[in-house]
Amino acid sequence: MGGHTVAVKRVALLGATGSIGRQAIDVIRASPGLELVAATSGSTPIDGLAPLTQVGGDPTALLERAEPDVVLNATLGFAGLPGTMWALERGVTLALANKESLVAAGELALAARARGRGELIPVDSEHSALFQCGLAGDPEAVVLTASGGPFRGRTREELADVRPRDALAHPTWSMGAKITVDSATLANKGLEVIEAHFLFGLEYARIEVLVHPTSIVHGIVRFRDGAALAHLGYPDMRVPISYALTYPERAPTPVPPLDLTAAPLEFFEPDLETFPLLALARDAGERGGTYPCVFNAANEVAVAAFLAGRIGFLEIAALVEEALARADGAPARDLDELREADRRARVSVEAAWVS
Ligand code: NAD
Ligand code: MG
Repeated sequence: MGGHTVAVKRVALLGATGSIGRQAIDVIRASPGLELVAATSGSTPIDGLAPLTQVGGDPTALLERAEPDVVLNATLGFAGLPGTMWALERGVTLALANKESLVAAGELALAARARGRGELIPVDSEHSALFQCGLAGDPEAVVLTASGGPFRGRTREELADVRPRDALAHPTWSMGAKITVDSATLANKGLEVIEAHFLFGLEYARIEVLVHPTSIVHGIVRFRDGAALAHLGYPDMRVPISYALTYPERAPTPVPPLDLTAAPLEFFEPDLETFPLLALARDAGERGGTYPCVFNAANEVAVAAFLAGRIGFLEIAALVEEALARADGAPARDLDELREADRRARVSVEAAWVS
């Protein structure tokens, strides 16, 4: 670094054993400017991975001790809530992969962010793309791209008997099991529409989704003069992870330069009838309150049941739709009320498939 004294960024990594977590460790080890000071996992032992480690439970006390400059939240699901809220409340930079916590907490997360006044940098590739395109200039709309997953082009009838292993065969991205199933149902894109709403303060009508099978264009920002800016790159999460950890700088990654002659850039409208979870998520987002929390909770339970072989693929959307219909959606005034909305939705889905 040519004699400059560069402050090392202290990183706390939540969900260190997962798909994002392992790639984040590669990024941190390759970067002299980043130091892993704390790490957590859900159940896998991680002794020695970082000076401070924790398996399971609430990471708040660990984060207090670690005093990180940035929290990379790569926990799976609603369990990521305490890490997200801690960083937002403290004004510690939050590199957010765990979209479920922002979707579920919504306004409560935004209020904590306003109090903490720290940076919130998306790791989700589409949102990182939009963030990097710069939302300055008052965008008319943003476009989130979706690969379409392994079942793109299929009809509902053709999806009745698909197995977990079929849903786990993603065409472009290599990810954890839950988000891979969410990509097959388009629930992931639904969560991402809500995520974009809370990250960028955009009304839902300005958040578009297009299917783009090669996953080269990650996000597009449209402006009123007809201009549109797009972010391109190979589908490799090390790029948005590295960007979020080194922001506002950029560091080299092992990802090769993009060869634009090799992959076609095609875009299609999503099939909302075959993949109802995208529209259900948008509707839950527009209704607001705890509907996004209920959408997320019901989806988490239904996906776990599908992965365990207890329900069919089409039942995931049916269970989420029923849970949303049963919920009152009343806004949560605090985190206890939010946890209660999450818990009630989970119980109601479990009761629905047992009966
Ligand atoms: P994963 O299942 O591979 O890993 C999840 C991690 O969370 C593991 O370390 C696990 O031990 C930990 N964990 C699980 N339950 C926990 C609990 N109750 N308490 C604490 N830790 C717990 O998941 P992933 O694919 O790495 O995804 C992680 C998050 O990143 C998800 O929110 C996902 O939506 C998001 N994301 C992932 C990708 C990707 O490419 N994998 C892309 C965009 C966003
Ligand atoms: Mg994404």
